[in-house]
Amino acid sequence: MQKKAILFLTFFITNICAHWPSIYNPDRALYMENAHNKPQSNACVFCTQLAENTDKKHFIIKRYDHAYVFLNRFPYQYGHMLIMPLRHVSNLEDLNMEEYQQLMNIVRQAISCLKKTYNVDGVNVGINLGSAAGASKPDHLHIQVLPRWYGDTGWLHTIGQTGVITHSMSDVYEKLKHAFNH
Ligand SMILES: [Zn+2]
Repeated sequence: MQKKAILFLTFFITNICAHWPSIYNPDRALYMENAHNKPQSNACVFCTQLAENTDKKHFIIKRYDHAYVFLNRFPYQYGHMLIMPLRHVSNLEDLNMEEYQQLMNIVRQAISCLKKTYNVDGVNVGINLGSAAGASKPDHLHIQVLPRWYGDTGWLHTIGQTGVITHSMSDVYEKLKHAFNH
């Protein structure tokens, strides 16, 4: 029995794991590559994108007075959005009430847009506060809004922590932008 288990494990590692890169979501693979290879810059990537005023390039769906919403460039699912305050703050308690309320209103709107555009079965809403809590960019507060469908968690998600994205970023961007403005 033990021998069988070892044989299976050997087969799994040599045959399945060896082929993972070919079925990775390419954006996710790029993210992982960048995370390993690039020196960490002190500049906030979100503030830099906001200042550039090239919203389509950065998949910024909509700007508000105190916050904005954009597509996660490295999504776990298509339609994976990030909602952030315009101000560079890292904690919920750093927000004034106006900023906090607008942020939460956008979360609510994002859920509604996902429901009417992609008929989602559920939505994960989450905030990782601090790197100890899993935030990869803890300096600028962001709320993750992740659409879910029944059966979307395949073995690749569970074992490989990756997924296959079936919709193009630009198509999802246009559809959600339309939903946010109608
Ligand atoms: Zn920032």
